[in-house]
Amino acid sequence: MLSNLATRDVETLIHPYTNLSTFRETGPLVLERGHGVWVYDSDGRPYLEGMAGLWCTALGYSNEELVEAASEQMSRLPFTHLFSGRSHDPAIELAETLKELMPIPTSKIFFTSSGSEANDTQVKLTWYLNNALGRPAKKKIISRIKGYHGVTVASASMTGLPANHADWDLPLPGFLHVGCPHHYRFAEAGETEEAFSQRLADELEALILREGPDTVAAFVAEPVMGAGGAIAPPSGYFEKIQAVLDRYDVRFIADEVICGFGRLGTWFGSEALGMRPDSLSFAKAVTSGYMPLGGVSIDEPLYKALVSQSAKLGTFGHGTTYSGHPVACAVALKTIEIYKRDRIVEGVAEKAPHFQARLSALAEHPIVGEARGIGLIGGLEIVADKNSKRQYDPKAGVAARCVAFAQAEGLIVRFLAGDRIAVCPPLVISPDEIDTLFDRLICALDRTE
Ligand code: PLP
Repeated sequence: MLSNLATRDVETLIHPYTNLSTFRETGPLVLERGHGVWVYDSDGRPYLEGMAGLWCTALGYSNEELVEAASEQMSRLPFTHLFSGRSHDPAIELAETLKELMPIPTSKIFFTSSGSEANDTQVKLTWYLNNALGRPAKKKIISRIKGYHGVTVASASMTGLPANHADWDLPLPGFLHVGCPHHYRFAEAGETEEAFSQRLADELEALILREGPDTVAAFVAEPVMGAGGAIAPPSGYFEKIQAVLDRYDVRFIADEVICGFGRLGTWFGSEALGMRPDSLSFAKAVTSGYMPLGGVSIDEPLYKALVSQSAKLGTFGHGTTYSGHPVACAVALKTIEIYKRDRIVEGVAEKAPHFQARLSALAEHPIVGEARGIGLIGGLEIVADKNSKRQYDPKAGVAARCVAFAQAEGLIVRFLAGDRIAVCPPLVISPDEIDTLFDRLICALDRTE
């Protein structure tokens, strides 16, 4: 029996990433408020938010400083834009702050309102760049099976998940996918992580050669795959991939939408994993999820190309009404100030060994095949048989059931395709709360067994 609010919900809303054929029976979980790492439903029941919302509420809920920053900016100047040379101080200050923080040489920052728009911008800028450089055939974009880059037409084309392609008429032509760097699931028997990484790099090289290096513009990757399964890469992976990209003059775009701003115990995932991207996309934790904001870093060669295009074509024909929204920028500035002042990133590095120890201990559980992560992110895989790694029939929905049991235990974690469960709590979670999270997850696994 659905509550009044839940009934109104199913009568009126379409929910992203929800099975619309079964949703009317299950109904929504209606959340009403949050405090620290806890959220409360409309009946006042608390849940430990083990997913930081959607991998984003790094500073937890009810952070009054962020509320004040938003409120102050709303009162002062709730909206202006960056079109036609108009500007405002939060955007200028935030661009300066981000330029300083970027782990790669950065000339400028371009703001969007979401991760999808940031990645769409990356594709368009790559195409525009290669037109400016007089190599109009160099346009193909390579990403990975199980990579997640968003839902707009270009970013969904880069995404490597069936739900984003089947019957959506995607990916668009010119978007190619290489193998997923998930050692547990895709390595051959006895293959070391290094050998697996080399095989994936060889596969990338073979694809570039088959397509023709003159046609391949960019490779995009998340440092740790998020929605594809919370998958940490095998050792040596990015080093070997980087060598291939360098060989064929293929731009490297890091999708830092989840890993940016501390998730792996470094400001950006690229630093933790030794990546040297040409550009990176960010969103989510840049505002701790309190306001929609994303963006991309622009390196000097790309910036020069954009300027040369304007000299030829006139206006830079890209950007949305809310690119650099002043309230979102003000909240991002305060968020980054708090990250620095409260040593949030260092705090993640300090808490990560405890988090990872509790996570990897789950691999002992009879239905867990793998439990692995980096920093404060982890993924586990539910299996029917640990030795053979055989999975349950997907129709049985075993991992989804485990996530529902977790919710009944007062813990929010996320079910992902392939019977994977993601854990990605707010960065401000305390060691005791980490214990509560894993204790509740064990109860959920026991009930699922
Ligand atoms: N890139 C990554 C790595 C993501 O995890 C996401 C969202 O989860 C996106 C891009 C898309 O971001 P958004 O949902 O803000 O469009």
